[in-house]
Amino acid sequence: MSRVYNFSAGPAVLPEEVLQEAAAEMLDYKGSGMSVMEMSHRSKVYDEIIKEAEADLRKLMNIPDNYKVLFVQGGDSLVFATVPMNLMKNKKAGYIITGQWAKKAFAEAKIYGEAVELASSADETFAYIPDCSDLPITDDMDYVYICENNTIYGTKFKTLPNTKGKLLVADQSSCFLSEPVDVTKYGLIHAGVQKNVGPSGVQVIIVREDLVTDDVLPCTPTMMKYKTHADNDSLYNTPPCYGIYICGKVFKWLLKNGGLEGIKELNEKKAAILYDFLDQSKLFKGTVRKEDRSLMNVPFVTGDADMDAKFVKEATAAGLVSLKGHRSVGGMRASIYNAMPIEGVVKLVEFMKKFEEENA
Ligand SMILES: *Cc1c(COP(=O)(O)O)cnc(C)c1O
Repeated sequence: MSRVYNFSAGPAVLPEEVLQEAAAEMLDYKGSGMSVMEMSHRSKVYDEIIKEAEADLRKLMNIPDNYKVLFVQGGDSLVFATVPMNLMKNKKAGYIITGQWAKKAFAEAKIYGEAVELASSADETFAYIPDCSDLPITDDMDYVYICENNTIYGTKFKTLPNTKGKLLVADQSSCFLSEPVDVTKYGLIHAGVQKNVGPSGVQVIIVREDLVTDDVLPCTPTMMKYKTHADNDSLYNTPPCYGIYICGKVFKWLLKNGGLEGIKELNEKKAAILYDFLDQSKLFKGTVRKEDRSLMNVPFVTGDADMDAKFVKEATAAGLVSLKGHRSVGGMRASIYNAMPIEGVVKLVEFMKKFEEENA
């Protein structure tokens, strides 16, 4: 067996310990005589798995009792639609455009009501987070929407926008569980787990209880009503059972390793190794305004597409894989999610140094 250092933006690296545990339980989960993949979602064994996953997530994020935790499927992109369907009572909301995912959510919201662009960093290819201290938020807006960590561009909101009393809705897909958050500042948090927590096919939605009602836009499908899932503890229909089971294991892994405070410390250490190198490199350059840099996704370029391609090719041969940047930015991107060991980042920087010397 030979494992690589996987810098993929998602689906992405998972803790090896979790994968090993899952492998050991593959044929016989805790004496049930079957794999979690094979068991009824109505069984007592599975009920314990999903209940424990929720309880552990609540513990990790310190989620208050007046918030519901939903495990749903459909891709995080489906949440771009369920947010307006469930929350756009006045059919108006504000969107802050900081990249492709925010743009997609914005475009989706326009299908259901009036979506207003409150701020944007499109003028500099989304290389920064716009000033959100005094946005043109109007009283009739139902919520303000952000993509908190921009997976493609490598920016992160370090301070949340001033929503002037309106609900804040945040896509946390690529920063989910990477550091502590104050859940009470949000009306709704959503995250596709394939970036930092588990296999694709599961979205976690954390939503304030009073927002979970039958008062949704007309024609909202049953499966897209948050209340359907909240009333049934995410077991209205067959949930993505195996994915939730892996998420549960990752929650336990985080709890065991110092929780979100602990992982933040490690993430800051890892990111500093890479950013410090980029800041003094003569060949490689970070593409993002310093104060808005993400701890999770680190894009960088040499400024020469052929050199970028050469780097990606040689890095791959050295066991440092999936470093090619998103097609809209070019260059490279190292996603250094929770499960990327610090040695992976050290190896990457060593490799970059060597490459720089060889190509000076
Ligand atoms: C990956 C990603 C999504 C989309 O997730 P899908 O599950 O592929 O629909 C949405 N938002 C952000 C920030 C992402 O990184």
